[in-house]
Amino acid sequence: MNLTQTLHKLWAPYCALCRFENKVPGKLLCTGCFGDMPLRDFDEAQIHSVSVPAFAAASYAYPVDQLLHSYKYHNQVQLADLLSELIATLPRPRAGTLLVPMPSSTARIKERGFDHMDLIAQRLAKHWDLQIWRGLKRTGHAPKQKTLSRSERHANVANQLSSRAPPLNHTLLILDDVSTTGATLNAAVRSLQGHFAKASDARVFAYVLAHEFKHSD
Ligand SMILES: [Zn+2]
Repeated sequence: MNLTQTLHKLWAPYCALCRFENKVPGKLLCTGCFGDMPLRDFDEAQIHSVSVPAFAAASYAYPVDQLLHSYKYHNQVQLADLLSELIATLPRPRAGTLLVPMPSSTARIKERGFDHMDLIAQRLAKHWDLQIWRGLKRTGHAPKQKTLSRSERHANVANQLSSRAPPLNHTLLILDDVSTTGATLNAAVRSLQGHFAKASDARVFAYVLAHEFKHSD
């Protein structure tokens, strides 16, 4: 998309979801659709299957699921603004916290033409005035998580993430798009904690855009 097309999209009077005409200029959605976002109250935002404090801005439901799908699989890069705005509804992290985007494999980045969590991290870093630390790495080509069973998923992610030693005396905030079982987040946490003598010496927590909340959460 060239600049004119991007500007046209941003300033076009139509909401990207419902096509309603009177949306706020410069925003992709009308106020009605933005208000329909399945945002979580903070006291109901915690993902209990993750071994460190982890919070989801929204439930993985319409329209967040569709927006995320368009962003990741249909090259709607301009949605990075809206998706980071949704994560930014979670409390602002303390000054000095390092943002750690969940990495994508090189193959996926090539396929998409952009690193989807890195773009979101860049927007949040600006919004919260924080630095990004890109120390988590994918070590292989991950098969699509959705095609794997729960236990395979668990084994798969554990083998696919590694990290550099994080800088000392910083809190690390992992950023991811969707969590279902929490397996990917737990693997990232384990990898980061592995650099410390005691797991509790690593100050790690996580924010995700959306989580599939179950009754057990
Ligand atoms: Zn709308």
